[in-house]
Amino acid sequence: MRVHQVADDVFTIRGTDVNMFLLRDGRDLTLIDAGWYGDATLIERSIRALGHRPEDIQAVLLTHAHLDHVGALNHLHRHYALPAYTSPTEVPHAHGDYHESATPLDVIKRLTDRNTIAWAARITAAGGLRKNPVPHIHPFPTEGPLDLPGHPVPIPTPGHTSGHTAYHLPEAGAIATGDALVTAHPTSKITGPQPLPNFFNHDTPATIAGYTTLESLPADLVLPGHGPTWPNGISTAVARARENAPHQRL
Ligand SMILES: [Zn+2]
Repeated sequence: MRVHQVADDVFTIRGTDVNMFLLRDGRDLTLIDAGWYGDATLIERSIRALGHRPEDIQAVLLTHAHLDHVGALNHLHRHYALPAYTSPTEVPHAHGDYHESATPLDVIKRLTDRNTIAWAARITAAGGLRKNPVPHIHPFPTEGPLDLPGHPVPIPTPGHTSGHTAYHLPEAGAIATGDALVTAHPTSKITGPQPLPNFFNHDTPATIAGYTTLESLPADLVLPGHGPTWPNGISTAVARARENAPHQRL
């Protein structure tokens, strides 16, 4: 099973080495991020396993426009007309107007250990080499808390990409940190809270600077874009990520 409850009305969907989150309010759902292109069926199955339908999703919120987070957005829009939102800065990135991501060559240069090679094979099978612009995505319709299940609050955390957004979930006492702060990644030798390896970040120092914003939020539960849920609070997670940052891979 790829879907797990992690708090009241909050569920994690584990895609291909990437996490997505469902927020529930009665019949209605919010989906945060959409995995790889090849994760679309897994997302639909996970939603149905919870007794819901993909049509129950009121909107998909995107943390940032990397291929492992935008994957199923076009599928979900085509089949269920689901709207998708992200920060105004990230919209042109999601449209494919510019790129702030690791290239296949960046990855190939780092295929030096078994974990990274196995990961590269998995993501290639999940559509990792496929361009995937999202023409229908829009900026958030309002400022502040969004009128969607879970009432997620967008938290600008530029760095990993220029328009990266974390989502504070006040009702659940949780924060979805996207790729600003993760707890594991197949290309990283570090365990626990950390920034991603530097080659994935558009701007690593800005990513770390954004931790000041994250640590001030009331959130016991950290829901990272990659790696397991961290139940020991965002301030502890940030402290560990700051310690780990200098040891992260270039
Ligand atoms: Zn990313």
